[in-house]
Amino acid sequence: MKIIQNLVDPSRYSIKCPYAMTPTRVVVHNTANDAPAANEIAYMIRNDNEVSFHYAVDDQEVVQGVPENRNTWNAGDGNGKGNREGIAVEICYSLSGGEKFTKAEQNAAEFIASILKRYGWGMDKVTKHQDYNGKYCPHRTLDLGWDRFLKMVEAHLNGDKPAPSPTPTPAPKPAKTVDVYYRVRTKADGWLPEVKNLEDYAGFTGAVTDVAVRVSAGSVKYRVHIKGGRWLPYVTGCNINDAANGYAGNGLEIDAVEVYYYTPDNIRPYKKAKYRVAPVNGSYYPWQYDNETGNGQDGYAGAFGKPIGKLQIVIE
Ligand SMILES: [Zn+2]
Repeated sequence: MKIIQNLVDPSRYSIKCPYAMTPTRVVVHNTANDAPAANEIAYMIRNDNEVSFHYAVDDQEVVQGVPENRNTWNAGDGNGKGNREGIAVEICYSLSGGEKFTKAEQNAAEFIASILKRYGWGMDKVTKHQDYNGKYCPHRTLDLGWDRFLKMVEAHLNGDKPAPSPTPTPAPKPAKTVDVYYRVRTKADGWLPEVKNLEDYAGFTGAVTDVAVRVSAGSVKYRVHIKGGRWLPYVTGCNINDAANGYAGNGLEIDAVEVYYYTPDNIRPYKKAKYRVAPVNGSYYPWQYDNETGNGQDGYAGAFGKPIGKLQIVIE
């Protein structure tokens, strides 16, 4: 069974799920509607009603709208245990019933059994909306027999069938590699091909005049120093047709480069730009390390007065 998430935006928690919750039970509902689970969740998370539930289950899939560690307004019992401790599961297509509802109920039984397994709960943790405020819900499941439904759940709980995978809230992505691509222009050769990381160096014959840099994740700012002149403004883009913000340089020989790397929120620990240059016909100066957190060398690569012939950059 497919389990997907379409979680309510945290900016709407105050309406939909204002309280942190440690769940102690499952609360079963019928939607009294004929919409698929994805629609039930999409509607629930965007409307302004203090009505909410964690999951909707239809004949195809389970869709989650609220994390299990937040409460929902599902059971009509105010701050009672239904609203404040229950994982609310809506079974779809209950209005008209039929084949889709039958399958949705089967999926719900399997899914609820998987919740019980995850929390180490017994069958006594499967409750119905009716238990909390008397409403005749889950109406069609009750019509067909509540004990019948409990037996369906129990069969999955005791059965050998593997449970569907749990639905944790999304974890931050593990640290990943950031690739840097860069190229230079020289008086003699024009723009040279792009270089990736340390697979090569950028440069060919004679002095470098312009530099363009881009990264696969996060962002960079970089600038160059004109030989016998000044630092040009920082550039953040990478487009050799954009003289304003697509590359650093103005066609004159450069003698120093500075590159900062900005690590995006989904990558930790912080990474930095490590880069070095060699003067024309000379060997490399030491590596420079710069990033936005201020723990780099905050220097530059190059020596004023000596035109740059080669550049290398890596993000690490
Ligand atoms: Zn209900």
